[in-house]
Amino acid sequence: MSESRKPQPTEETELILRVRAAARQEQFLEVVSAEEARARFKRHLDLSPLSAETVALPDALTRVLAGDVVAPVDAPAFDRSNVDGFAVHAADTWGASDSNRKTLSLNREVIACGHAPVITVTPGTCTAIATGGVVPRGADAVVMIEQTELIEESQPRIELRRAANSGQFISYAGSDIARGETLLRHGTRIGAREIGMLAACGLDRVEVVRRPKVAVLSTGDELVEPGSPLRPAGVYDSNGAIIAAAVAEAGGEPLMFGAYPDDAAVLETAVRKALDASDMVVLSGGTSKGAGDLSHRIVSQLGKPGILVHGVALKPGKPLCLGVVESKPIVVLPGFPTSAIFTFHAFVAPIIRTRAGLPPEAPNTVNARVPLRVASELGRQEFVLVSLVDGDDGMIAFPTGKGSGAVTSFSQADGFFEIDALASALDAESHVEVTLIGSAIHAPDVVIMGSHDVALDVVVGALADRGFSARTLAVGSLGGVAAANRGECDIAPVHLIDPTSGQYNKYLVGPGLSLVPGWRRMQGVLFRPGDARFEGRSAQEALKIALADRSALMVNRNAGAGTRVLIDKLLDGARPPGYANQPKSHNAVAAAVAQGRADWGLAIAPVAKLYGLGFLPVSPEHYDFLLVDKRRERPAVQAFLAALHDERTRERIRALGMEPSA
Ligand code: AMP
Ligand code: MG
Repeated sequence: MSESRKPQPTEETELILRVRAAARQEQFLEVVSAEEARARFKRHLDLSPLSAETVALPDALTRVLAGDVVAPVDAPAFDRSNVDGFAVHAADTWGASDSNRKTLSLNREVIACGHAPVITVTPGTCTAIATGGVVPRGADAVVMIEQTELIEESQPRIELRRAANSGQFISYAGSDIARGETLLRHGTRIGAREIGMLAACGLDRVEVVRRPKVAVLSTGDELVEPGSPLRPAGVYDSNGAIIAAAVAEAGGEPLMFGAYPDDAAVLETAVRKALDASDMVVLSGGTSKGAGDLSHRIVSQLGKPGILVHGVALKPGKPLCLGVVESKPIVVLPGFPTSAIFTFHAFVAPIIRTRAGLPPEAPNTVNARVPLRVASELGRQEFVLVSLVDGDDGMIAFPTGKGSGAVTSFSQADGFFEIDALASALDAESHVEVTLIGSAIHAPDVVIMGSHDVALDVVVGALADRGFSARTLAVGSLGGVAAANRGECDIAPVHLIDPTSGQYNKYLVGPGLSLVPGWRRMQGVLFRPGDARFEGRSAQEALKIALADRSALMVNRNAGAGTRVLIDKLLDGARPPGYANQPKSHNAVAAAVAQGRADWGLAIAPVAKLYGLGFLPVSPEHYDFLLVDKRRERPAVQAFLAALHDERTRERIRALGMEPSA
């Protein structure tokens, strides 16, 4: 950092010349609107994300996922016991109480964590199991050790004092993370939670988008590096620090080049070096009219196409200069700190985000009342920084009003509102929309609660590409119906059959709800390939054989599931062994069959494929969406519907083995 040592004028003529130079009103090339400035800039930019690179998990923090991550395994990978106790047939425990103890003989196996069980739990028997142990074949519940008593005789037994429901103390395979579900979406910023999810699936590295390198430079004879003593007339270089930090927040990698004096030769050398080393250059200072105005002249000499915009009808931020040199953006921000950071967020951060693979930042806005009149210059779109106060009748926005030279007007503002270029003032007591600044917690744009499906991930992905965030909660079809009726969600994916009419979902539409068709999923019988009881047969034929074979163990579904209604219809009153085992998802059924805890069950075709199982089709189920009418007009819900009907989305849904509804 060199000090300003320009010699002082000795002669009068020289003084006059210097004053003229200092006051020189160099004209902006052409002042354009903010929209026009953005459009010109974008026309010359590559706005695709940079290439991907693979990093080890610990290095992935704050990086942006390059592709969707599909869970390669289930978590838990098996039906897991949640307590220390005994794996049992729930039906054996029914009626047990302090006065009516039930006795079970103890199998010669102890299932500790990491032990793969070998003995089937047959009715009347039980197996000791530890918290985290694999629920053995035949068992459909676990009883807590505290509610049992060990009878140590030659044939060891346990006595039970409590009845257990089927599924008690079991976490089913895939109930935490289901194999094949989109675990994380491209464009997601990786935090501790995402790293944990990747590790839980056994992944130790991940593909992330290369970070755009952004060189940050400051110019001004008065600038002093923070950490050094401030000399007379000096100003600390705060822009360099705040812009570098904002680059990192936007997903870029800042390269701090420091501050340079207003010296054309020195500055040009520095800017050329910066261009060579980076994907993008951001310089602040030296852009407004006056003696030190040399930044834009340097940019204009660097190469094609050069300066695209110099002067934007914007307050703060008029002297902004946007250029491109050999396809690299180069931006000169106004020197005043508030103008600098404001224009950075408005024009530069969105470009860094796109190249870093991040979706556009969804504007976070609140309505507020402005208690005073705010004057504004005609012909310039003005942004007024405000502090927000929670008033009795809603938010109140107070203009912070320290001017664009203040560092604190941006840093301490909660947000800003806009005064149109054609208005000369905003009247007192006007209501405005305030765009919030900073990383305020952002609620998801749309909440989806109900049954999960892998094709739903496709629609939510398309929604994310449109800039809307979704929270999906897999609570099952019935849970979704309840949430929609209570207005707790925007959209509820459901697949429930009306047992009387045989129709799917229509009977769920109550007041304030409507139904949007989704797609159909083929349901059928799952079995391990090579099992002669099933292989090559029709579903009806295979079921007849399975029901006649007492060693053929089934896995059922939970009551309330659409597939359960189908199972009961097919069984027509029969109760084959395993009927009491009632996990809550297609994945858990497939995992039970694949791992030999059961021999057959009913689930959808894509899941059978995922687990390498045989599949005998029975009938399609309809997966549709209940919409809460009063939320239908929300932009995110409309975007969901648009994504659902988009032919590209439908094509991807078909590729997963579903048939989109007309
Ligand atoms: P300029 O755009 O160079 O005409 O600068 C306008 C105003 O912003 C002057 O008051 C400068 O001192 C101030 N300024 C310029 N660059 C910086 C910087 N990097 N940090 C803090 N203030 C700056
Ligand atoms: Mg300057």
